[in-house]
Order: sequence, then structure tokens, then C-alpha cells
Amino acid sequence: MIDFKPLFADLSTEPLYIAGPCSAESREQVLLAARDIAAAGVTIFRAGVWKPRTKPGSFEGRGTEALEWLREAKERYGLKVITEVATPEHLEEALRYDVDGIWIGARTTTNPFATQQIADALRGVDTAVIVKNPVIPDVDLWIGAIERIYNSGVRRIAAAHRGFGTQQTTPYRNAPHWSVPIELHRRVPELCIMCDPSHIGGRRELIAQLSQQALDIGFDGLMIECHPTPECALSDAAQQITPTALAELISNLELHRTPAGADALSEYRLHIDTIDSKIIELLAERMDIARAIGRYKHAHGMAVVQQDRYNELLLAAEARAEVMQVSKKFIHDIFSAIHEESVRQQLEDKTK
Ligand code: PEP
Ligand code: MN
Repeated sequence: MIDFKPLFADLSTEPLYIAGPCSAESREQVLLAARDIAAAGVTIFRAGVWKPRTKPGSFEGRGTEALEWLREAKERYGLKVITEVATPEHLEEALRYDVDGIWIGARTTTNPFATQQIADALRGVDTAVIVKNPVIPDVDLWIGAIERIYNSGVRRIAAAHRGFGTQQTTPYRNAPHWSVPIELHRRVPELCIMCDPSHIGGRRELIAQLSQQALDIGFDGLMIECHPTPECALSDAAQQITPTALAELISNLELHRTPAGADALSEYRLHIDTIDSKIIELLAERMDIARAIGRYKHAHGMAVVQQDRYNELLLAAEARAEVMQVSKKFIHDIFSAIHEESVRQQLEDKTK
């Protein structure tokens, strides 16, 4: 896959910004969001019309009537409008209302049958298609979905990184696992890769920081959920930001802070930075568990430091160090420090 075309040839903005509410909720909400997002300088407007919800009974989108509102937003504010499709029927309906592009959601990308059906329906259609990553961190599944769309003749394709489902405690709604989009870029270098910090973060406080991180890594653009009154949103209320916050976020972004791909050193450094964030996240997770163990010990009248367990842990870490060919002393020192911090946290927790 090499001959991709830009999503929208008449938009030369770099990076590419897409913004809009998680869901199109009413005509007023769509038009208000579109007006203020256009005023913030964003030219591609997103809004979900059919919403894939985890639990039945949640708000599932307004369906076809919302496509009429998107068309109105497009005409009034000169925006490109895009929406999510999960079936050939959605696609047909969205095209009937002149959408400029579609995205394939994470749940759909996870299912090759569903993606293939959409790909078949896209044959002969000239539209922009954004393929979100599958829910699981499987780069082959993601590339497979992109290939299905490509094989149907579509060339205006982008990928969007929205994080991966996880059972672990992380500060994010969907774990970023940056190495997966980085691998996608290595394997399909011509492909435009966007980042969706809203679904990664799940909380609006994290969106600005994730957006900067994505641009530093070298993503081509951002898709950000933006709602006139986020706290009242019918879906994903915690992660949406106002158009004012969007404008501020964009103006604070530092572009080309590290010229991605410009030299090997900056690529290596970005890789190291993503590994370091992972180490910190894992340590935070480890401390959570250590505190839970502390509470258990307290409840069962056990001492905080169990010498046998500590020795076992150090020996196991040293043995693993040997296999991985890193210095045993280095690993010993790190694990002593980690253990000391766990003990400190358990003692502190006890006094609360
Ligand atoms: C969305 O963009 O609102 C959405 C449902 O995305 P995802 O498929 O990434 O969960
Ligand atoms: Mn959403």
C-alpha cells in the first residue's frame, strides 16, 4: 500500500485537525458546535450518528435525522463532515446525505467480517475513510482492516489511534501503547496517521497533554471530541471539551517540536520517552497493588515486611536480569528501591 491520497486535497493544513461532538444530539447542538469549531479554525467536523455503546439502553445516536443536521452544518459553515459507519446500510445512508468522509470505529475494525462488508460497499465510491485501531493492540488486525479498504479502491485513507482496551489500572480510558501506531507507521510509511486523544484519555484534563505527545511522536493530526456543553453530553461527557478549550489547546500546541523522522536521534529519543512513560505507569500500577497488599496484611495482623518474600522477589528479579542480559546489580538496586517505596506506601496507608 503506497499510493495513498490526502484525505482532503483542498485542505493543506498541517497538522490536520478534526473536531466535533461524540454524538450528534440535536439540530441546535450540531449547529452550535459546528459554528464554534469552525471559528476555532478547524475545518473537519465529526459527529457520531449511530453510536456503538457498551451497554444496551444507553443513548445510541439519532440516526438518519442527524445526517440532515450534518448537511446543514456543512453548508452553513463550509466544513467537511464525517461520521462513523458500522454497516453497508450506514454507509449508503451517510453518502445519501453528502458526508465528506466516514470513520470505521474501533469495535468494527476488530471484526474482519464487518470491515470487509464496509469495504465491499465502498467499491467505486470516492470518499475519505479513517480506520480507527482495533480494540486490542494487534497491529496486523489494524493493517488488515486498512488493506481491505485499500483493496476496494479507496485511496483517501487515514488511520486513527484511539488507544486500546485494558483491564489494568491506568490513568487512561484506553491504554495508548504508542509502540503500536509507531509500528504501523514503520510498516505503512505513506499512510496518514491521526491521533484521537479523547478516547485515549477519557478525561478532558488529559487531552492537551496527549495531543502534544502525539504531535511530538509525529502523528499527522488530531481528532478531538468537542461539545458546546460537555458536561451535559449524552455520550462520553467526561472527555469532551468546549470549543473555547479546543481553540486554546490548538494555540498552545508546539508544532514540530521534534522534527519527526528528520533524524535517527530524535526517533530514538521519542521511543525512549514512550518507554519511560510506560515504566512510570507500570510503577504506579505496582504501587496500587502494593497498597492493597498492605491493607490485607493490616487486616490479618501481618508485619509489613515479609523477609522471605523480599528475598524471593530479589532473586527472581536477578535471575530475569541474567536472562535479559542486563546487569544483576543494576536490577538488584532498582528492585530494592521499588520494594522500599512499596513498604513506605504500605506504612503510610496504615496511618490514614
Ligand atoms: C467515537 O469516535 O465516538 C467512537 C465511538 O470511537 P471509537 O470507535 O474509537 O470508540
Ligand atoms: Mn466518543
